[in-house]
Amino acid sequence: MPVVQPIYQTTLFRMPSYEIAVGSEHATRPSSYYTRWGNPTVGFLEKQLAALAETETAVAFPSGMSAITTVLLALNDPGDTLAVSTRLYGDSFRFCAEDMRRFGYKVCFFVPEDTEQLEQLLRRGCRSVYFETLSNPDLVLPDCKEICRLAARYGATSICDATFTPPGVLETSTLGADVVVHSLTKYMSGHFSVHGGAAMCSNALAEEIWHKQTLYGSCMDPHAAWLVSEGLKTIHVRVAQQNASAARIAEFLDAHPRVTSVRYPRLRSHPQHDRARELLGGGGGVIAFSVGGPASNIARLLEAPQVIGLSVSLGGIYSVIEHAQSMSHSMVKDAGEEASRGSKPAGDLFRLSVGLEDVDDLLADLAQALAQLS
Ligand code: PLP
Repeated sequence: MPVVQPIYQTTLFRMPSYEIAVGSEHATRPSSYYTRWGNPTVGFLEKQLAALAETETAVAFPSGMSAITTVLLALNDPGDTLAVSTRLYGDSFRFCAEDMRRFGYKVCFFVPEDTEQLEQLLRRGCRSVYFETLSNPDLVLPDCKEICRLAARYGATSICDATFTPPGVLETSTLGADVVVHSLTKYMSGHFSVHGGAAMCSNALAEEIWHKQTLYGSCMDPHAAWLVSEGLKTIHVRVAQQNASAARIAEFLDAHPRVTSVRYPRLRSHPQHDRARELLGGGGGVIAFSVGGPASNIARLLEAPQVIGLSVSLGGIYSVIEHAQSMSHSMVKDAGEEASRGSKPAGDLFRLSVGLEDVDDLLADLAQALAQLS
């Protein structure tokens, strides 16, 4: 028996009989029939994900966006109203604000810190509530348990994107969410080598999601699933180190004269610090911070680091920095008033994702980069 799971790099499985072939064609989530329906390597990853999230099952996708779009389309019908957080990753916001509306869904945005506003929407009738546990990029931590509780009370399905709060930061099983989605591209795979997405939920919801997944063709490739699966085996040590390094870096930035503000859940100044202490086992690897000075400081701060890379992703073993408004969230700039209520980040906000490099090297790198600002 191999220690490492083999990769079933195949689209087909030869059927032992006509009866079994027909049975597989009509089965839900057959593990070995046709890879768009299911594949043992993908299935192994789904078991790992469900075990981590303590859900009945998980459905794996080729990217976080394919998980989000497929789940939202699978669990809602055109004409339904969805309550959607204003504080979302740029493409998630754009999908809800533009495409879902174009497809005939009624999308009502709510500010996730404002659960009264959410309750008003729910009273009028919503099929689903969609939000991020810790928002990208401004690290707002809404009352996730209350959002899920309200959704359940009014009969809506709660769907939360927990990409910013992997195991080791937040145990999502405590929230009461019906569906937890993740971009596996980030902390879960951890090495910036593969895209992936997942929905962790009950068998009943997974069945609905799977039917649309097979129809839309958003199945995960076995090799990608294998890469995520290998990455997942080290998530607890990776995230523990990221929590520790990011906390030190956040304190360093907080004390630095060139830095005008720092947002990190473990800092006392975080607007939901008490909730973060109660809910989160660590602050995570992402820090949002601002520097003052002229606009030319943006490029300077992004280009000056030697260890930290200028790049958009997060949660991996390599530290990366980006300017949220012009990079990860550039697509929400034209979303009008709704964007200004949440998803459009401030123009001076940088998002730093701390990896596994020696923390002293990272501190020195940031110090020399900040010294170059005018
Ligand atoms: N959700 C969040 C919170 C993200 O930050 C991202 C990407 O940055 C996604 C979803 C989309 O994930 P992917 O790039 O794997 O499609």
